Amino acid sequence: MPLNPGWIELIYGCVKSGKSRALIDKINSIKNAIDEEKFEKEFLVVKHPLDDKETQGKISSFDGKNIDAIECETAKDLVEHVTKHTKFIFLSGVHLFDRDIVPLLKALVDINVIIVTTGINLTAKGEPYNYMPQIMTITDVYDIRAGECFTSGCGENAYRSIKVNDHFEPRCMKCYYKTEKTPDLVVVTGPMFSQKTLELIAKTKEKERKLELNPVKNEDGFMNKDISAIFKWSEDKRYDLEKIVSHDGNSINAIPIESNSQVINYLKINKQVGFVGFDEIQFFKDPYPLIKELLERGYPIYITCLKEDFRGEGFGDVPKILTLANIIISKEAYCTRCQKQPATKTQRFIIKNGIKTPANYNDPVILVGGKESYTSVCRSCHWVPEKSENKYDNILKLKQIN
Ligand SMILES: [Zn+2]
Ligand SMILES: [Zn+2]
Repeated sequence: MPLNPGWIELIYGCVKSGKSRALIDKINSIKNAIDEEKFEKEFLVVKHPLDDKETQGKISSFDGKNIDAIECETAKDLVEHVTKHTKFIFLSGVHLFDRDIVPLLKALVDINVIIVTTGINLTAKGEPYNYMPQIMTITDVYDIRAGECFTSGCGENAYRSIKVNDHFEPRCMKCYYKTEKTPDLVVVTGPMFSQKTLELIAKTKEKERKLELNPVKNEDGFMNKDISAIFKWSEDKRYDLEKIVSHDGNSINAIPIESNSQVINYLKINKQVGFVGFDEIQFFKDPYPLIKELLERGYPIYITCLKEDFRGEGFGDVPKILTLANIIISKEAYCTRCQKQPATKTQRFIIKNGIKTPANYNDPVILVGGKESYTSVCRSCHWVPEKSENKYDNILKLKQIN
C-alpha cells in the first residue's frame, strides 16, 4: 500500500485568468530548486498543441512568459513520454484532450505521480468544456483563477468567457448573466463524514445573524440577500424531514423537495429569498439545469455534495455542476482503514454472512445511510469488487518494470 499517493491539482478558470502564468511560475520555482539532471528525469512538461497555437513547443501566458514543453495531442501521446522515473507532470490545456485523459490521470495518480494541470472549465457558450466535468471530479486540489471583467468600467473578478467577434474575453458573473444581483456558486464536496453539511449550516446561520443585526421589511419583489431557503431531497429522512442535521447534531430548517419545479415555485412565491442552499445535491433529479437557471436569475447558491458515488464514479449531475462553481471547497475525512492518510473516498459495506464486506460495483448507486453502510477511506484503501479495469493501469505497470 503506497503511503504517499499522488494527486491532481487543477488550475482553472476563464480565458485570460493567468492559469498558464501560474503553471509557469510553479515549474520555474521547482526548476530553480533542484538540479537539472533530476528535473529532466523526473519531470514532464507537456502542452496540448491547440493550447495557444501561436507558441509552438512552449507553454505561454498572455502576459508574455513562456517555458519549453513537449506537445501531446492525445492521452496516448502523453503516456508514451511517461517513464518509471516520472514523478511530476505539468500539463497545459487539459480541457483540450480526448476522453482517455481521465483514466490516464487516474492511473498516474495511483502510481503516485503528482499532476499539476491547467484548463478552461466552461466554453464561451457556458457549457462544460469537453471532459472537464470528469477531470474536475478526480481533482484533489482546486485552484480557480479569476480574470478581470472586460466590460468597460467593470473590472470585477471574472469567472466566465464570452466570444466577441473572433476572440474571447473574460466576464464577471453579473455582466455575464446580466443580473441585478451578483450570482455566485459555492460547492462544498468531499466523502461522507467530511463535515460538508456543517459548512452549509454555519453559512446559513451566518446569513441569519446578519439579518438579526440589520432587519429589513419584506416588500414584494425585494430581494434581501440574507434571507435563505435551504432545500433537501425529500427521501433523505436520516435525521429529520424538515431539518438539515450534521453528523455532530447541528441543525437548520430545510424545505424537502422532489423536483426542480418545486424549487422554482417556492422562489417565485418567496421573493424575499436571496440566498439558496442545497444539501446533498447528488440525490436531486436533474439539478444541473436548475443550478444554471438560478444563476441566470442572479442567486448566490451554496451546495454540499458527494462528487463521487461509492464506486468512485461521478455522482449524477455533480461533475457538470462543478464546472459552474466559482468556489469549490474540498473537504477530507480520516481514512478509517489505514488511519494514516486523509480520506477522499466513500466506501460502502454490505453485511455478508454476518461480516462487513465492500459493496459490489453493480449494487444500486443510491442508498441513504450512515455509519452502518458507509465509511470514509483514502484512495489506496478504496475497494470496489468487480469494478472494470482501467487499461492505463496495465500500461503504466509495464513501464514500471521495464
Ligand atoms: Zn463585469
Ligand atoms: Zn487509507
